[in-house]
Amino acid sequence: MTDMKNPSVLIAECESALKDRFAALEAREERLTARVLDLFAEEQVALRHFNSTNGYGYDDQGRDTLERLYAKLFRTEAAIVRPQIASGTHALSMCLFGLLRPGDHLLSATEKPYDTMDEVIGIAGDAPGSLKEMGVTFSSVPMTETGIDVPAVLAVIRPETRVILTQRSRGYALRPTVAPEDMAPLFRAVKAVRPDIFLMVDNCYGEFVCDEEPLFYGADVMAGSLIKNIGGGLAPTGGYIAGTEAAIRRVEARLTAPGIGREVGSYAGSYRPFYQGLFMAPHTVCEALKVSLLTAAVFERLGMKTVPAVDAKRADIIQAIRMETPERMVAYCQAIQAASPVDSNAVPEPWDMPGYQDQVIMAAGTFVAGASIELSADGPMRDPYVVYQQGGLTYAHGKIALRRALERMKDML
Ligand SMILES: *Cc1c(COP(=O)(O)O)cnc(C)c1O
Repeated sequence: MTDMKNPSVLIAECESALKDRFAALEAREERLTARVLDLFAEEQVALRHFNSTNGYGYDDQGRDTLERLYAKLFRTEAAIVRPQIASGTHALSMCLFGLLRPGDHLLSATEKPYDTMDEVIGIAGDAPGSLKEMGVTFSSVPMTETGIDVPAVLAVIRPETRVILTQRSRGYALRPTVAPEDMAPLFRAVKAVRPDIFLMVDNCYGEFVCDEEPLFYGADVMAGSLIKNIGGGLAPTGGYIAGTEAAIRRVEARLTAPGIGREVGSYAGSYRPFYQGLFMAPHTVCEALKVSLLTAAVFERLGMKTVPAVDAKRADIIQAIRMETPERMVAYCQAIQAASPVDSNAVPEPWDMPGYQDQVIMAAGTFVAGASIELSADGPMRDPYVVYQQGGLTYAHGKIALRRALERMKDML
């Protein structure tokens, strides 16, 4: 008989029940590490690639080689991988402004995009320069319980539809995450009727969670953040965009200037953390997934709803837990913060964060500011008070933090 109130016992029981799942994750880590390793050998990565550059950055070998590594890893033609891309939102925004023209229509196949995209698209807020202000229209299609509603997407394509956006991760929503292979039916169906439409994927939180990536299944372009999965916890900043030459040529005009594109851009820091982070990423993502599974298992045993459930297929590193009350949500986030290696004395409170419509609480005591591949927990303060937890550079850290959170929440569970 389990003592549900004894966090150590509860965690130990969940951990042993997860043994086979953990073994499967480690097997994937090995496959993905081999893939990365072979690409490093193919590109003959050497110390000189880590050197800093300055000025225009013509023929920056560290930058160009890193971009080729990403393109090959994602089995596509080109990539832009830059410390100058400030965030995932910036990378996604560059894609949209690069691909869309006045009069075009943007269609989201996965409901409303991530909160920070609202102002980019012009769904909310009044920031100048949105797509809406540029004359781009937008619509989104509800998903079914299992994923993308392909016939519904096809039904709302217009002659002026230029980009169909698929968001892999659920963001601050409780809809299903879309695995790369589950995007394939949409991609095939759209290409059959409208090969001129760009299939774009928001791949944030997705890299290295599965053996495949969306570009393997026919996406034209995909973007993500380097301070999430693919930076491996080491990349200090940055974002990436990978895709076909046709798509990247349009996007690179928004990276710098039309006609200059991705030929310039120097970096006075070292590129080493970007390479080393990519090398570490399959391992880091594996550790983060173990933390997510353990967290889900524990809260399920406590009778709470988790998304994804322990047994469900995973396509990103996010673990959502329905806390049901604001008190639990705040207590959990504060406990995660207190168990962080950095800023453990900070006490997170809900606040009005730029780009988000509800108040948000965020726990992130991270080495890289705001890096959510490091253990972090956050969510908008709205019913049903869902905490979105992600990351953990090491499994041990995630497990310790979870145990301390349970101790702190004892009287609320
Ligand atoms: C993190 C994330 C983004 C971008 O967020 P930034 O904080 O700007 O890096 C976009 N979409 C999804 C689904 C995300 O998880």
